[in-house]
Amino acid sequence: MIYVRLNEDNFEYDIYSLVKAFYPKEEVRIGTEAAPEDEGLLFCMNVNYEDHKLTLDGREIEIDYSNRPDTKNRLKLAIYESLSARTGKTLPWGTLTGIRPTKISLGMIENGASDEQVAAYMKETYLTSQEKIDLSLQVSHMEHKLLSKIDYDNGYSVYIGIPFCPSTCLYCSFTSYPIGLWTKKLDDYLAALEKEMAFTAEACKGKSLTTIYIGGGTPTSLDEEHMEKLLSLVDKYFDTESLLEYTIEAGRPDSITYEKLQVMKNHPVTRISINPQTMNQKTLDLIGRFHKVEDIHKVFGWARELGFDNINMDMILGLPGETIDDVKYTLDEIKKLAPDNLTVHSLALKHSARLNIDREAYDDYLIDNSQSHMDICLEAAKDMGMEPYYLYRQKNMAANLENIGYATAGKEGLYNILIMEEKQTIMALGCGTACKFVTDHGATVTRCENVKDVQLYMDRIDEMIDRKRERLREDLKWL
Ligand code: SF4
Repeated sequence: MIYVRLNEDNFEYDIYSLVKAFYPKEEVRIGTEAAPEDEGLLFCMNVNYEDHKLTLDGREIEIDYSNRPDTKNRLKLAIYESLSARTGKTLPWGTLTGIRPTKISLGMIENGASDEQVAAYMKETYLTSQEKIDLSLQVSHMEHKLLSKIDYDNGYSVYIGIPFCPSTCLYCSFTSYPIGLWTKKLDDYLAALEKEMAFTAEACKGKSLTTIYIGGGTPTSLDEEHMEKLLSLVDKYFDTESLLEYTIEAGRPDSITYEKLQVMKNHPVTRISINPQTMNQKTLDLIGRFHKVEDIHKVFGWARELGFDNINMDMILGLPGETIDDVKYTLDEIKKLAPDNLTVHSLALKHSARLNIDREAYDDYLIDNSQSHMDICLEAAKDMGMEPYYLYRQKNMAANLENIGYATAGKEGLYNILIMEEKQTIMALGCGTACKFVTDHGATVTRCENVKDVQLYMDRIDEMIDRKRERLREDLKWL
């Protein structure tokens, strides 16, 4: 265990995230009490906030506490230097522990900064590596180009959550329940969603709807009849004809049928995801995705046959037991299918995931991710004619890397950029979802969450709508 002792509570979360980035497997505790010596203490750091300075293990750093962002940066730099000296490690993103590194570079580019100025700022302020600075710049320029073509400021997007899946993946930390337990209540769930759709359409009257994204869970866990009902409700309440993008995260191949794809094709869906995560059968079996590799090929073939011309595939690096050769195999198989988007995730070990809860059972499995893994994905994406167009990070990611979305020209997922860069208000509907209310071009972002329990969501739908109404009035002045 690593203990960080503070003389007062301040910046605890930032300190925790940075220490954890250096010591991903170690327990990290922060507190104002003396270090608990008898609990396997690896070492203790002492941070004292004092007048005009802070001290870290006796080292003094001058601080202007009236500038909170600068205070945070200086504190993180001092901790980074100390931990880097102790471990001999550097982190690819430096002191950046937030999930949106490109918000910094995109913001600077939008304000007229040159690439050299962005690079110098990221290097000096956050100690970001040249490789990650180059990636941030490339992605930000792509985002800037795509965003400049749309009037996102006067619009909004809709996210609809379907919190059901065929089974629960080993690494899952999303709001997801086995569909088998909820089949008799799907009409009730759609009835609650309809209430939210009616409210959203009314509340956002006069604003243009930019994109719709149906995610989850796995939306294609719904049977054909409920899928048809859901998409008809979307058509009824929203102007789907003028949308710039309408995505359904079909997701798990074991939930997709030819008929469900036909249902989607009969509605104005423009983009779908068919997510293998890996093309290695041994890994699919281990992570609880109960389908065959051949199913991925079959379902993808159906989607192309039906005319879907914008298909994303997700894959994960760092899955238990996978070597770099397994990753190469997955990429070779994906290349055979030639999707339009490839989203590469670095495994993030979340608290509530079975992989974390039962971690001793997986101790013997290699969990490997590195820049070399990222590099072969980049090469494969290039081979498929794709460029990186968005990126984000998560807590506790394997090797402290990132998730990158690649796309062929014109097939980039706009919703992904809008939500990650916090450019537009997202009205989120469904159990476990969260609205993001964006004002002042992203300078202020507030959230309004729906409950994560399906039954509670249905029981308390009116209350959640009332809360949204109030927040729309207060935060956005829309009503
Ligand atoms: S498909 Fe996604 S949401 Fe569903 S169980 Fe797997 S990781 Fe969770």
